[in-house]
Amino acid sequence: MQIKVLADSNAVDKRYSIGWGVSFLAGKEVLFDTGEKGQSLLNNMQQMDALAADIKAVVLSHDHWDHTGGLWALLEQNPQIKVYACPNFSSEFKEKVMSAGAELVEVSRLTQIAEDIYTTGEIAGEYGGGYMAEQSLIIKSQRGLVVLTGCAHPGIIKILEKVKETLGGNIYLVMGGFHLMKTDKRVVALIINKFRQLGVKKVGATHCSGKEAVELFRKEYQDDFISVKAGMVIKIGD
Ligand SMILES: [Zn+2]
Ligand SMILES: [Zn+2]
Repeated sequence: MQIKVLADSNAVDKRYSIGWGVSFLAGKEVLFDTGEKGQSLLNNMQQMDALAADIKAVVLSHDHWDHTGGLWALLEQNPQIKVYACPNFSSEFKEKVMSAGAELVEVSRLTQIAEDIYTTGEIAGEYGGGYMAEQSLIIKSQRGLVVLTGCAHPGIIKILEKVKETLGGNIYLVMGGFHLMKTDKRVVALIINKFRQLGVKKVGATHCSGKEAVELFRKEYQDDFISVKAGMVIKIGD
């Protein structure tokens, strides 16, 4: 299995568009999040030989613009895509997906998306004092589970515990936004401890993880830390 990074605020070189939000392509058919802008997503797809026609499912972590923004340009290229959203996405969002001609799938619990690829289903979370549910993508690999996160508004540890509780097995890699920008570094240290206790082998903290937390994870994980950048291909297993 290969994961292509299609959106991030850093890129491997100037050919790639950068922007806020994340987007990861798992294999050829399953896209997790779409970054903030369609143009950037399509450009990066083109640079990485990822075809819109090959994509069968888009799983959106949560209803924030930096994760859903690229969707519309992609659906224009391929309206056959199934869009997996949490039930709390806005009715405007849901209508827009349907009027683009795509199929909307609302997921509340652990659901299989493709061979070896699952969504956690909605996990309750909070953002700006309001309710914000979020789903994470899980890939089963020979090395263990790969967990991809959007912003981790429910809390990164809560997400990982849910993955352990529902799918079980060891967690090989956790990658995406951990939402620790405003978290005290002593709390971040406890979170990193918990990652070790949970047996997480590799970490790719990016996006809203916050610079300070990213450096703390990097220091702990050393060679097992992945500096996520648009244009990067992450190979999992053979
Ligand atoms: Zn975000
Ligand atoms: Zn968010």
